[in-house]
Amino acid sequence: MTKFYEVRRRDGAARIGFLSLNGEKKQTPLLFHVESLRSDKEGLKVIHVEDDNFNDLFQVLDVPRGAVLLPEVHPLFTRVQEAIPQLKVDCFVLSFASALLYSPRAFVRGIMGARKVIPPDTALWAPAIATAENAALLFYMGVDLIDDTNAVIQGYQGIYHTEEGAVDPNEMEELPCTCIVCSSLTVEELRVKDSKEKLIAKHNTLLLEKEVKKVKAHIRAGSLREYVELKVRSSPFFTAVLRLLDLEEEAYFEKRTPVARNHSMMANTMESLKRIEVKRFASRVRERYEPPARPVLLILPCSARKPYSISPSHLKFRDAIERYRGRIHEIILTSPLGVVPRELEVLYPAAFYDIPVTGYWDAEERDWVASCLRAYLERNARNYGKIVAHLSGAYKELCSRVAEELGLDVVYTCAEGEDVTSKAALKRLKERIADDTEQRLSGFEKKAGMLRAMADYQFGIGAGSDLITRKEGEKIKISGKFPAYKLSVNGDVLARIVPEYGLLTLTRTGALRIKHFLSSYTVHIGDFLPKGSILAPGVVNADEHIRVNDEVIFVGEKAFGVGRAKMSGWEMVESQKGVAVDVREVEERATSAKSTS
Ligand SMILES: [Zn+2]
Repeated sequence: MTKFYEVRRRDGAARIGFLSLNGEKKQTPLLFHVESLRSDKEGLKVIHVEDDNFNDLFQVLDVPRGAVLLPEVHPLFTRVQEAIPQLKVDCFVLSFASALLYSPRAFVRGIMGARKVIPPDTALWAPAIATAENAALLFYMGVDLIDDTNAVIQGYQGIYHTEEGAVDPNEMEELPCTCIVCSSLTVEELRVKDSKEKLIAKHNTLLLEKEVKKVKAHIRAGSLREYVELKVRSSPFFTAVLRLLDLEEEAYFEKRTPVARNHSMMANTMESLKRIEVKRFASRVRERYEPPARPVLLILPCSARKPYSISPSHLKFRDAIERYRGRIHEIILTSPLGVVPRELEVLYPAAFYDIPVTGYWDAEERDWVASCLRAYLERNARNYGKIVAHLSGAYKELCSRVAEELGLDVVYTCAEGEDVTSKAALKRLKERIADDTEQRLSGFEKKAGMLRAMADYQFGIGAGSDLITRKEGEKIKISGKFPAYKLSVNGDVLARIVPEYGLLTLTRTGALRIKHFLSSYTVHIGDFLPKGSILAPGVVNADEHIRVNDEVIFVGEKAFGVGRAKMSGWEMVESQKGVAVDVREVEERATSAKSTS
């Protein structure tokens, strides 16, 4: 039950929410100031939730007057996990959070352990642990509230915080900060005045405040992961934390990562290879993608511009192969996504990533991309009569390594050191592709291939075929400019590609056509006709596979419709507040539907 806390926005496990405090709505991620907490006459009432297994893991916060967080608190619990859903509280405090700074593993276990057992629509406070260095990571893991205890205490001890960690003011020649304290002082003046005026503590707190603001901006922009990758660089401890999270907490983050966003993902570090978006894309290409039946496989390199099709290099490739394109199936080799079939190039994240391009790939990157290519070829190579690779440099090395391992013959069209867009290479590509039978790819085939593959990727293999295959008496039409295609049948729109999010969206008619593929994307709602959004309490059940920004259908006694998920399916079920589904189209169900359902 969450009367005083509501999550409004999500970026992975991080959230922006509102917490009612002293009758005031405070936005989370929130920084509590130690001073303000002390000034509360009543103080904080904290009740320990004790359990052998959890060993004092939680305190339940009770602020009885004004700052009402918990209207009802039960005093004793023997089984924490069983008891938590009945607690009806809005905020949990992680006991002894500061002890978690002892080891990266303890840090991960402590915070993840807490976040996993408390309901998604409650706030988690990790007290006396935050600094400007680690705050972004704490929020990234799902902490909602922090405080400035650490900043103040360390300030009193003369420890000066920077965004990248603590420094000794005696070792500084200049103050690396423009806060109100630092901008008016030299480092010598700070040293002299600090003992009386506690200026370092003030600076530390201001710096932490600024960091919280930065994190909020990143959550709003959906770029917290990139920021965390940058932040953890400051220390081996926090880099280790992020690596442990990526290795051991994949399921936790997978459940919280949106299927699409409306902006690019920066893959600038080795940790980017471990991102959920990257792993999810690779696994869906393995499990939810069926290549079209064409005799020639052409492997191409990626381009900086996305979707690849509109890049100068890919326009040149297209010119070279245009007359034979009906016989060619194209896949694009890229880091960090691995293999991107041409038909999936406008999907998120295929059209939404940026990498530093140097021509050099390091070992881990090569291994990952090679594993994606290997998986693709193992499954599909036998369906092609011929494999052509128009690749150079690291791409070519990687491809030949995989081809050798699998014992496949590959025709290479770039000579050593030759650029893929050079005239000689393009001419060779044309020659090797050329066959006695010219076969162009019709505009309809190209568009239909994209829509089909995208529907399979989003809803499961077979959905695309059902969506697009013409039935008797039907006239299928695909209109619109690349890549904003619109699919209609006898004048009724079934689906659209939304390039801004890299997704296919369905209309009600489209959803009905592939309804049996949508069981994993169904939200069962109560006995009402939704207007606007569907809120979590209106959700009776939702499939656990649903992720933020997934296309979903909702079904209730009175309504059927389509929309976009605003929280994961499991979260819709477990939450009492917040928008679950943004409704796009809704239809009132006839009462007869009641008796048949
Ligand atoms: Zn400062």
